Amino acid sequence: MKFGIDIGHNCPPDIGAKGIKFEDNLNLDVGNKVIAKLKALGHQVVPCKPTKADTVEDSLAKRCATANSANVDIFVSIHFNIFNAQANGTEVYAMSEIGKKIAKSVLDEITKLGFSNRGIKDGSKLFVIKHTIMPAILIESCFIDSQKDMNLYNAEAIANAIVKGLTL
Ligand SMILES: [Zn+2]
Repeated sequence: MKFGIDIGHNCPPDIGAKGIKFEDNLNLDVGNKVIAKLKALGHQVVPCKPTKADTVEDSLAKRCATANSANVDIFVSIHFNIFNAQANGTEVYAMSEIGKKIAKSVLDEITKLGFSNRGIKDGSKLFVIKHTIMPAILIESCFIDSQKDMNLYNAEAIANAIVKGLTL
């Protein structure tokens, strides 16, 4: 399989949210582990995060262009959520039927780690899902402003769960 792995934000002015922890750091920690683990299993990985962008939209467009031109089988965008310090748990966005199946597989594995299951969400309004031509998911791994989630947070465990969900 050929995976497009998109480490969310980390490309100013496209930067992640700040809660108890900084989303950009967590996206990088988990994303780099996912990339390494997929490669170790013999899969092809196309990293989709651009090295520079003029605007947030430019950053998002470049991620999609990289996945589309490499014709990856699945596009996976890795993020962490933020809301009101009370909300917690994992949600995964998808649009196509195949995307939703992959999303459920990943969601089931991450929630086995103890995060609340917030379900599969409609990704049809998310730029990177709308503008990629292959099945695409966006993972909101857990909430960076939730003490419960940050106590549970372990980059290695989340990366293992994502890889298992993607390769089942
Ligand atoms: Zn994000």
